[in-house]
Amino acid sequence: MSERAGVGVENDTIKRRCAEAGGMNPKILILGPPGAGKGTQSGRLADEFGVEHVTTGDALRANKEMDISDMDTEYDTPGEYMDRGDLVPDVVVDAMVGEALDGREGFVLDGYPRNGDQAEALKDMTDLDVVLVLDVPEEELVDRLTGRRVCEDCGTNYHVEFNQPEEAGVCDECGGDLYQREDDDEESVRNRLSVYHDNTEPVLELYADHDGYVEIDGDQAPDEVWEDVKAAVEAEA
Ligand code: ADP
Ligand code: ADP
Ligand code: ZN
Repeated sequence: MSERAGVGVENDTIKRRCAEAGGMNPKILILGPPGAGKGTQSGRLADEFGVEHVTTGDALRANKEMDISDMDTEYDTPGEYMDRGDLVPDVVVDAMVGEALDGREGFVLDGYPRNGDQAEALKDMTDLDVVLVLDVPEEELVDRLTGRRVCEDCGTNYHVEFNQPEEAGVCDECGGDLYQREDDDEESVRNRLSVYHDNTEPVLELYADHDGYVEIDGDQAPDEVWEDVKAAVEAEA
């Protein structure tokens, strides 16, 4: 039987190996407001193209209690900024992304850059093949964020109405428990949207002339958005 050991390899693994063998390894940046579907689409990109999903939100959540008091910041931990919906200082986030991208052939970067200085820092870290922007109207974003549920084990996103798991409160992918993020309450959501308008929206203009820049209609069903996202990466990478 041993010569047949490869037969049972999962589909995702095969796709990843093909992507690696084809040397595609796209470097993808995904931009858009909180709730636009960046995390949802990034997960699919990572599976389809065999690249790492680098997300500052998840990295910071895993380090919410990290002591940053020696970095000359207003608060002593990332969590104090995050629960308010404010940006964590650049000095902390730039270092995290620099480390995550160091030596990486392909990736999908989600949640960074969120202001002009971070965009400058990113330029020095890596080149990008594709820059995707997910467009979603503001009123839709509040509903998406306040109804979001996240798997505590694997990070997969669900929605109580728009993207329900098969069994309420349980992850389809890994059976983990779903929870509501502390910053997905209405007050923090409204603050995050205003931080987005003031700090992050101007960043879009910096990328408008970039090679591989594609705007995607994010106000469609997740599978339809995915069709457009996948086609854009295949065309541009
Ligand atoms: P969402 O998916 O709702 O856009 P994220 O998970 O990307 O939110 O980010 C959650 C929080 O983590 C942000 O509100 C902010 O406090 C912090 N954060 C994430 N990325 C960055 C960044 N690039 N710069 C500063 N703060 C960040
Ligand atoms: P972001 O990472 O941009 O903050 P997420 O991918 O976490 O966004 O999506 C925010 C919420 O909206 C989640 O609850 C997710 O299940 C849901 N969602 C994602 N894409 C869509 C879509 N195309 N239509 C409706 N809801 C969506
Ligand atoms: Zn899970």
